[in-house]
Amino acid sequence: MTRPILKDPCTWRIRPNLFSYEESVRDFSWDKARTLLDGLPGGRGLNIAHEAVVRHARGPKADRTAIIFLRKDGRVEDWTYKALDQASNRFADVLKNLGIGKGDRVFTLLGRTPELYIAFLGALKNGSVFCPLFSAFGPEPLKTRLQLGEGKILVTTETFYERKVAAIRGDLPALREVVLTGPAWEKLLTAASPEFDIPATDPQDMALLHFTSGTTGRPKGAVHVHEAVVAHHATGLLALDFHDDDVFWCTADPGWVTGTSYGIISPLTNGVRLIVDEGEFDADRWYRVLEERGVTVWYTAPTAVRMMMRGGTDLPKRRNLSKLRFIASVGEPLNPEAVLWGLDAFGLPIHDNWWQTETGGIMIANFPSMDIRPGSMGRPLPGIAAAVARRSEDGRAEIVEEAGAQGELVLKTGWPSMFRGYLNEDERYRKCFADGWYFTGDLARRDADGYYWFVGRSDDVIKSAGHLIGPFEVESALMEHPSVSEAGVIGKPDPVIGAVVKAFVSLKPGVAETEDLRKDLLGFARRRLGPAVAPKEIDFIKDLPKTKSGKILRRLLKARELGLPEGDLSTLEEAK
Ligand code: ATP
Ligand code: MG
Repeated sequence: MTRPILKDPCTWRIRPNLFSYEESVRDFSWDKARTLLDGLPGGRGLNIAHEAVVRHARGPKADRTAIIFLRKDGRVEDWTYKALDQASNRFADVLKNLGIGKGDRVFTLLGRTPELYIAFLGALKNGSVFCPLFSAFGPEPLKTRLQLGEGKILVTTETFYERKVAAIRGDLPALREVVLTGPAWEKLLTAASPEFDIPATDPQDMALLHFTSGTTGRPKGAVHVHEAVVAHHATGLLALDFHDDDVFWCTADPGWVTGTSYGIISPLTNGVRLIVDEGEFDADRWYRVLEERGVTVWYTAPTAVRMMMRGGTDLPKRRNLSKLRFIASVGEPLNPEAVLWGLDAFGLPIHDNWWQTETGGIMIANFPSMDIRPGSMGRPLPGIAAAVARRSEDGRAEIVEEAGAQGELVLKTGWPSMFRGYLNEDERYRKCFADGWYFTGDLARRDADGYYWFVGRSDDVIKSAGHLIGPFEVESALMEHPSVSEAGVIGKPDPVIGAVVKAFVSLKPGVAETEDLRKDLLGFARRRLGPAVAPKEIDFIKDLPKTKSGKILRRLLKARELGLPEGDLSTLEEAK
């Protein structure tokens, strides 16, 4: 399907950091990117927390606001770089005094409150490994992650502890300490030293443990090292276009990699002001946050955009969002409808970008200076070599040069934020690589101009009557129908043609699920996609099953349709 190219609408108001793609790609090197960072004094290595706060706290930005916390009760808390630095020194000191050392795993189970950010920075300062757990997890998913990650210490609230942790504590022999927030936390921090010397940190030392979203199966624990900060910093500059005066809002929770790489590290290393919103999604409130906080750069996710689309453009148009200058999205394919909706609602297109827990940072992006091809993920970041490839029978990487051909999206190894392992799954990690390429598990196409187009996860792609069909294309076509809010598409095994394309569709508020509408949708999709690709069956569904990070769980739609075991549901978002 061809779609119009959105000529760079020149919506940018500041000269983008990446102004000419070709020049940036030519001039970029990771060595140069390293020089944008400080390094630990005395050549003692590279530490994420030092780059994020210590160097600012010792320079002209010391008293600048680093994080603005919008608390659930309506309070607004401003934390300067200096204050964050000191509080995290205290927490690092607490860890040290508790005998928690280098490489030990520090877990948090917290909402988006200051303690989470302080624990993050303090753990890294201490040379420990940080692992944030999403606060909506129940006891079972918490247990598996704490066991797999061998959590030595957990920071959580009293309520979470009582509700979720107490019952599994006996199953966690590695867990030595639980630190509760509230008075106990205050007391510990007050008693600790506000000074802390970060020990020598090798750039290859393990820093972060992140669990994947569990969209395709049991979540994997991806290991990241301190050197990743080189990529966090550079990609913030290039793909999110951070400028010194920006007010940046990343809506992701640190329990998912986006909420850490871009919800903590990158904005802080770049010295911008970061908004952290403790509350949950609420379209009206979100628009208010954008307006009242004067957000300039906003990083969100397709699922949130689709939910806002349900509410129409009246709400955003009633707000003064004149400060907003750049919107980006990640996590799932961004339907072309959604890119264009941004133009309507905000006067700004939404810039899709692509990456994964494993890549640690943005790898492919639509940059503010570039034409947008709605539905495309954009082009590889400077310093990132991407390609489309197939695996040969003997496991080698066969690069597909021809434009438009479909294959697995692969990345040349060696960028700083590449994951260094799947925890306790060495074989699985090894299998991701061949001939110096990392195989991402996603299928894509590259067009003649070097834009990448997401086709689907290799697990989700549908083989029907000799065609390979990506669910995203079908879902996007359905979303162009005025009655459709969201769609999830699966392949239903069929003895004759391999698989039948089946769509689950949720409708916009107030639209009735009628037989006529079903027929209309079938015809609509057929006209747009052709009979080979269009769904043969459409079911209405009130809400599509999603992960807690908001991704459509196609494997669950399929399992339910076929009456098969539902698999790992640890990241399933419970119906509200
Ligand atoms: P799991 O690996 O456990 O199945 P997951 O892959 O969803 O879960 P994440 O690492 O959070 O876990 O998500 C990365 C994946 O999300 C990518 O591999 C891709 O499939 C999808 N994704 C992210 N951004 C985009 C995008 N812009 N367009 C299309 N897909 C995207
Ligand atoms: Mg994945």
